[in-house]
Amino acid sequence: MIQPMRSVRADGYASLKLPDHPRARSNGYVYEHIVVAEKKLGRSLLPKERVHHENHNPSDNHPDNLIVCKSQADHMIQHARQRVIAASGDPDTQRICHRCKQLKLNTEFSPSSSRGKKCLSSACKECLAISQRNRRRQRVTPYIRPSRRKEKTNGSGSTNTDRG
Ligand SMILES: [Zn+2]
Ligand SMILES: [Zn+2]
Repeated sequence: MIQPMRSVRADGYASLKLPDHPRARSNGYVYEHIVVAEKKLGRSLLPKERVHHENHNPSDNHPDNLIVCKSQADHMIQHARQRVIAASGDPDTQRICHRCKQLKLNTEFSPSSSRGKKCLSSACKECLAISQRNRRRQRVTPYIRPSRRKEKTNGSGSTNTDRG
């Protein structure tokens, strides 16, 4: 089999020249990760499916590095989980606040719902409280400096073992 022409973009995404492929762009190129993922699945990708690079290297299109997500939302969950793992957290019980960028327990987020699906708010309860307070405050200060608070030791759930 003749190997198709391969081109790698500056951002690392590789494409193969396969003009007959249903996902071919106007220039006849298809993203290599799509071709590899379809080969791995043994079928064509569905229109909503997204291919995720497990190691976040878009030029590494090894089949083991590619995860097919059933939607873009699912794909974003995959990314959120990976951010938690990168911060040495547990993606099943912790998440990263979109606002303070801190790793927090799921219980520190308030439940919300988007499009009927139950989920947790993207910002932690603490950040939500701050933004609500700021909203209530009159807009006299154009810029509010983030207050440097000392790290509080988390009392909930943690067991204090006194070593003697
Ligand atoms: Zn991804
Ligand atoms: Zn926060």
